[in-house]
Amino acid sequence: MKITRSSKTTLKFATAEKLKILNEILDEYAQVTNFFIDYFWEHPEIKIKNDIKKEIYGLPETWFTARMRQCAAREALSMVLGAKNTENRRKSSAEREVEELLGQEIFNDPVKPVHNGKKMTLSSQTAVIEKGRNSFDLWLIISSVGKEMKLYIPLKKHRQFLRWEHSGKTASSVVIHRDYVQISFEIETGEKKEFGKAVGIDAGINHLMTASEREFLGNDIKPLISKIKRKHQGSKAYKRAKKELSYCIHKTVKDYFKNSGIRLAVTEKLKNLKQNTKEKSESKEFRKTLSNWNYRELLRIIQMRCEENRVFFRSVSPFKTSQRCPRCTHTQRENRKGEEFECLKCGYAEQADYVGSLNILHRFLTGRYGAGFKTD
Ligand SMILES: [Zn+2]
Repeated sequence: MKITRSSKTTLKFATAEKLKILNEILDEYAQVTNFFIDYFWEHPEIKIKNDIKKEIYGLPETWFTARMRQCAAREALSMVLGAKNTENRRKSSAEREVEELLGQEIFNDPVKPVHNGKKMTLSSQTAVIEKGRNSFDLWLIISSVGKEMKLYIPLKKHRQFLRWEHSGKTASSVVIHRDYVQISFEIETGEKKEFGKAVGIDAGINHLMTASEREFLGNDIKPLISKIKRKHQGSKAYKRAKKELSYCIHKTVKDYFKNSGIRLAVTEKLKNLKQNTKEKSESKEFRKTLSNWNYRELLRIIQMRCEENRVFFRSVSPFKTSQRCPRCTHTQRENRKGEEFECLKCGYAEQADYVGSLNILHRFLTGRYGAGFKTD
């Protein structure tokens, strides 16, 4: 399986003059891309990159080279195809409200996309990253753009890039934003595992992750979260505390999935976002769980590590996973009291997060997609 990993690096070491030129290129890129979007929108017969014939590249009036026109045209085509695939389109809350009032769906038609000029995806023919000799570690070199422009932009030392490059990979694309670049690498992971453990993972703030093998991981995140809450939002100390938490989450997940012999990991889906209002976040109930932001971040990191370690990643509905007794299935809110679980019917008593993780795994394995994963 091929996966893509990317990382960002700032453009703040570029001179004002260079940034001005870069902005000029981005403005032109947006204009050319929007020209192609209009064209492809009216020509649905163009479905893949190879359908874009040479004549089409020549259509827009621009000082861009053929290579840049090609980049813009490809981006335009993928935007058009994405928009026409309405299954992927998510309706806005306003649209959904109108539909609810009318009792019928009226926003199912595809909406023509617009390129906003915030970024451009360049091929390796126009943008390359090279190792530097001087104080800056890397250079972004943009050429073959047009008007004989050639831009050399210094980038800060970039550990992730050097690591990827060291393992013999080359950047598959460079996405240039107005103030940072995003460098992507393609990594071959191999097929997903055929054998191994299936685990359920419950997330919380006493233990970041509790696994159904009765493992408790990330047991020191609670003080990190309260540290963030004590700091003034946006301050340096606040950012530092957030970074510390982020590092802890990354490390916990990374260590857990490394050489773990896990074949399947099941988590809870993100809970209803509507709950994440101010009043709710102050309530007693909410202080016991991870904030939605932290939970989404945790899920993202788990998914990433699963991909890298050839582990299947699935999630299930969180409905009553903390209230169900894994021994007799009796489900009642009062079964759980804080960190303790005690079944009011059969007396089964266990750590509550561990019970949650058992129920999460059970829900998936007994569900319609779980059949292929059943182990002994
Ligand atoms: Zn029970």
